[in-house]
Amino acid sequence: MSKRIDGKAFADRLCATLAEEVVSLKQDKQLSPCIAVVLVGEDPASATYVGAKVKRCEQLGIDSRSHHLDVSTSEEELLNLIDELNNDPEVHGILVQLPVPKQINGDAVINAINPDKDVDGFHISNAGALAVGQNNMVPCTPLGSLMLLQDELGDLSGLNAVVVGRSNIVGKPMAALLLQQSCTVTIAHSRTKDLPAVCREADILVAAVGIPHFVQADWIKPGATVIDVGINRIFDEELGKNRLVGDVDYTAAAEVAGAITPVPGGVGPMTIACLMYNTVAAAKNQAGITS
Ligand code: NAD
Repeated sequence: MSKRIDGKAFADRLCATLAEEVVSLKQDKQLSPCIAVVLVGEDPASATYVGAKVKRCEQLGIDSRSHHLDVSTSEEELLNLIDELNNDPEVHGILVQLPVPKQINGDAVINAINPDKDVDGFHISNAGALAVGQNNMVPCTPLGSLMLLQDELGDLSGLNAVVVGRSNIVGKPMAALLLQQSCTVTIAHSRTKDLPAVCREADILVAAVGIPHFVQADWIKPGATVIDVGINRIFDEELGKNRLVGDVDYTAAAEVAGAITPVPGGVGPMTIACLMYNTVAAAKNQAGITS
């Protein structure tokens, strides 16, 4: 039976450290880190994610300003709000909860955010910075996954890493971070030939696919470390209600892997903790605080 990597406990420890840092920034530097969270429309999952982020801010003493806009908001109206927030010196981080309604071009909105305030790390210049190893704001989910891997394995240099999924928000930045740690990185995706064989080469296997229980136990090299990024809602016949599962068949995979993140309680809490981490880092950067 493999070790269960407790992302919630790690996230709680990271947040406790950040909360102490926020206290000293307020006391010693008169700096109050602040994030603006923008939600457009009424998507229930988005509202839940925003609620969880705002709650974490409150726990850490980070100011949050919520902007909940109507589903009919135009792209121009949203861009005007971004412009206002970019120019507000009291706002250090800007997060636009995705997806946005179809009349709005999500890429245009993200790329309108000042890259130094882009705490999600999705701006094209932050993606470019990551690709060339000049990290500015790093996407939260891959950053949190890397922290868990380093905590578990220490030095990652020379390890074979396979990332299944090539999205701009998870797969590609995850691969870039692992490459920076001198892993030998393979990015697998929907067109990869013989995916099970590719996965079996991995010392580190990251699943970011969005298909429940997709990665099977016999795709995993014995002793490998498995990071399950997937968050999928399935109907559980036994429970008679929906529950969250990952992209990995956890129960079977846990018999083979050396260590594995559960869903829920693995990568999910790390994503929010890293959003807090980025917000504090952004506030310090903007105030010229280097330590
Ligand atoms: P996405 O849909 O943008 O990308 C999915 C990727 O999986 C694509 O690159 C695609 O090539 C690949 N893929 C699809 N079918 C495949 C197949 N049959 N074989 C191999 N590869 C295949 O998704 P995303 O935004 O990267 O998210 C992936 C998963 O991670 C989702 O379940 C999402 O909910 C979850 N997620 C979790 C967090 C978190 O905080 N834990 C954050 C973001 C996303």
